[in-house]
Amino acid sequence: MRQRLFPRASSNSRLVAPLANLLAAGIFAVDTLDPFAGSVSVLYVVVVLLASTAFRRRGIVLCSLACVGLTVLSFWLVHGSEASGGALSRCVMSIATIVITALLVLKNQSTSTDLSEKAQLLDLTHDAIFVRSMGGLISYWNRGAEAIYGWSAEHAVGKSTHQLLQTVFPARLDQINRELLSSNRWEGELVHAKRDGSVVVVSSRWSLQKDADGRPLAVLETNTDISQRRRAETEVLKAQAELAHVTRLTTLGELTASIAHEVNQPLAGIVMNGEACLRWMDRDKPDLDEVRSAVKRSIADAQRASDIVHRIRALSKKGDIQMALVDVNEIVEESLTLVQRELVANRITLKLDLANQALSALGDRVQLQQLLINLLINAIQAMASGTNDLREILVTTSIDESNQANVRVQDSGPGIDPDNARQLFKTFFTTKADGMGMGLSICRSIVESHGGRVWIVPNPGGGAIFQFSLPRVEKDAGS
Ligand code: ADP
Repeated sequence: MRQRLFPRASSNSRLVAPLANLLAAGIFAVDTLDPFAGSVSVLYVVVVLLASTAFRRRGIVLCSLACVGLTVLSFWLVHGSEASGGALSRCVMSIATIVITALLVLKNQSTSTDLSEKAQLLDLTHDAIFVRSMGGLISYWNRGAEAIYGWSAEHAVGKSTHQLLQTVFPARLDQINRELLSSNRWEGELVHAKRDGSVVVVSSRWSLQKDADGRPLAVLETNTDISQRRRAETEVLKAQAELAHVTRLTTLGELTASIAHEVNQPLAGIVMNGEACLRWMDRDKPDLDEVRSAVKRSIADAQRASDIVHRIRALSKKGDIQMALVDVNEIVEESLTLVQRELVANRITLKLDLANQALSALGDRVQLQQLLINLLINAIQAMASGTNDLREILVTTSIDESNQANVRVQDSGPGIDPDNARQLFKTFFTTKADGMGMGLSICRSIVESHGGRVWIVPNPGGGAIFQFSLPRVEKDAGS
């Protein structure tokens, strides 16, 4: 038998009916045979109350009428038509008590039935709905909960939710309970274990019911299974990461000249310093100080070349996202190194206006570099195709009014066509003959996965301005 949110008369009448009959017979016997026992007939209310646990409306009415009938019958048998005033008033009082009890029982039962029927509606939903105490003890478990978790209501009722479902909470339970007690509700994502051991992710909504004194009575928990949605989102993220990797490789291909130049320069420096070293040593009296400083310069050059190779390898590697504390100013400078050559080749002046304090954020260094390189290459390409003689890129970093790390890339190209502005961040939107339309959509997914946002700043003066902001982190907070 299913449990009910609000218990109503049980159908256990097979046991209750003989018991009620026996009790009624006992009361009748005492009332009739021992008239000095007082108002024994008042005890018929126990029979009515007993009947209310087993019978519906009709049964209770019949039982109450029978009790009233027995009271009258026993009065008549004992007193006949010569009843004293006291005996008559005792009899009337007993009848009144039986009738009032019957009416109250009927009213209570009709309210319970009404509520029970409403509660049964909860079985129509596919969501898991259950009622539990603050401590987690389950008192109601709907059909949706049976379907999602695999536990029957009979098994679940009386158990602790958190143990039965091995709940993994998004925060500490005492913090969640504190929020529930103060606002009477809580919403969040939970991970639960099903009966077969598999895991289900649910979007959970809790509502707290309190008594008149504000003491917590019960928690109504409604859980929607979102495992499927989560899996789909993970697949999308994976696909996005794959795509981001492919476009990074494409970008690196476009930057080959810059990269070769960046690596060549320190290598040439090493050769020059090596030759100088030899000359200082071949002297009659070798100048060791000069030799030492030439070797130091070589080491610095080698370090620079190795840094660039390291950066390229990081960009071309297909690695997992690695969130770490990064300085946004540093990311800007590293990205600019990789497009330096393109700037020179396209006769573009770079203006850099970096915030004079570190802009710490939690992010994936490679992804953030890719974001900046995408914006810079778009700016370079826009100016290369434009007719404006002024070729300038201004990169600004700052802390904005909402305390976020802000990066702005402004160019002096043809600017954004207002008709296209809404679509620029959409995948595959491009106005370039050989464009893929992936760059800006990847930029947006990178920024959003870092909890930030990217947008186009209107610039009536011409030229495009792309800006993005990332949540700032206090340096001590990173670990
Ligand atoms: P793609 O570069 O392959 O076209 P993107 O997603 O990077 O793909 O860019 C989409 C479109 O946005 C470009 O085709 C171009 O029309 C526009 N766009 C992007 N950056 C600029 C810019 N700095 N100036 C003008 N238009 C731009």
